[in-house]
Amino acid sequence: MNVFESVLDAVGATPLIRLRRVTAGLTAQVWVKVEFANPGGSVKDRAALAMVRAAEELGELQPGGTIVEGSSGNTGVGLAMVAAQCGYTAVVVVPNTIAHEKVALLQAYGARVVATEGKLPREHPEHVNNLARRIAEETDGGWYANQYDNPANPRIHELTTGPEIWEQTGGRVTHLVAGIGTGGTISGTGRFLKRHGVTVVGTDPEASVYAGGDGSPYFVESVGHYLHPDTVEDTWPTAYDRAIVDRFERIPDGESLRVARRLAAEEGLLVGGSAGTAVAGALRVAAGLGPEHVVVAVLPDSGRNYLSKYFDDRWMTGMGFLDATEGPFVRDVVPQRGLAVVPATDTVAAVLARHGSGPVAVVVPRTSDAPTRSAPEVIGSVDPAELRALVAADPERAADSVTRHAGSAPAAVGHGENAAAATARIDGGKGPVLLLIDGRAVALVPRAVLEQRHETTG
Ligand code: PMP
Repeated sequence: MNVFESVLDAVGATPLIRLRRVTAGLTAQVWVKVEFANPGGSVKDRAALAMVRAAEELGELQPGGTIVEGSSGNTGVGLAMVAAQCGYTAVVVVPNTIAHEKVALLQAYGARVVATEGKLPREHPEHVNNLARRIAEETDGGWYANQYDNPANPRIHELTTGPEIWEQTGGRVTHLVAGIGTGGTISGTGRFLKRHGVTVVGTDPEASVYAGGDGSPYFVESVGHYLHPDTVEDTWPTAYDRAIVDRFERIPDGESLRVARRLAAEEGLLVGGSAGTAVAGALRVAAGLGPEHVVVAVLPDSGRNYLSKYFDDRWMTGMGFLDATEGPFVRDVVPQRGLAVVPATDTVAAVLARHGSGPVAVVVPRTSDAPTRSAPEVIGSVDPAELRALVAADPERAADSVTRHAGSAPAAVGHGENAAAATARIDGGKGPVLLLIDGRAVALVPRAVLEQRHETTG
């Protein structure tokens, strides 16, 4: 039996569980390392405890001191747990885009939560990490944990997570599959397992820059690397050792989230989105392997953190990740033309030179030849006919920035929403409607298309 003197002694030594149902048809075995079984609920308990212990040894953190960190939640919870047990104060700076359950959790542990704008260039003083560093500097006894560059983060995975997986599989593990946030998990666990000939596969949200995406926003939290278009120099965490990753699987958000939901419904494992990403990757890897192979995926946290998002059918259908139980669906009544876009840096004249009729999405500028745009990057819309009339009346308007005439972000509907329900949901608003598939804008149509087409078909 596991009996501990302190909650901190219960960190690590998590179960390894074999997947039985989502693996139907595969011959290779797929096992999952259940990191949500840590006392603070995630893989980050390991790093949090290790970083505090290292700081204590180095004298960087003194008794009664204040631990400060920028975190999308789980590292913050781990640090808050350690702080509570060891008599420190925890201050956690979070991006305002995270699930609200995560904020409530931090507060429940007694941490002070400081929310900051989530989508800021890396250089911005209010960027999560810059703000956390500054608070630590300005606080008496403050210590900035800095999970992104703290060597204690990957090291604890090399010392614990890797050896645990090796032992638990009796040395039979052939493939490690994990996502990359700070990179601590994959770099440390992978470094240990590679010594035993294990292949290391990184799973990355399709839009993340780690595996070659354009850096646009994505909806799986806490993994991958987003790139703000105004970031001058993109820095990657030093906790992430790229040389450890043998290959990548790039996973679209829809695939990650649907696999996460299947893990709950078919395996009884309620996990977060990044666990869905890892298992989606593991299933892809296993599909190409024979029965002698053992694939291990790391499940970083529990789905309890995301009940209002990934496990909420309304959120999922509204974002275009899931179909409603009954049609006709939005996609049955809205024709899917391509998405006409103009970067927010353009002028009215530039729009008129390139676009004839129909609503045009005003988007965050980004070098991308993708035919779709991440939904949060559509910040407004313009109607070329209206702009043309405007310029006819006052030619000086041609030099205006389009943003001056772009209004606010258009209402959005998911392609699998019930058409009547979607129409009712956005009723009362004005302007064109954005059509979403898997969280990406694929078309912008006049509102009448959704409303009238629906009346005639149904
Ligand atoms: N998934 C979740 C839910 C996480 O909180 C984190 C940590 N940011 C990760 C994955 C990635 O782990 P790591 O930082 O060790 O790369």
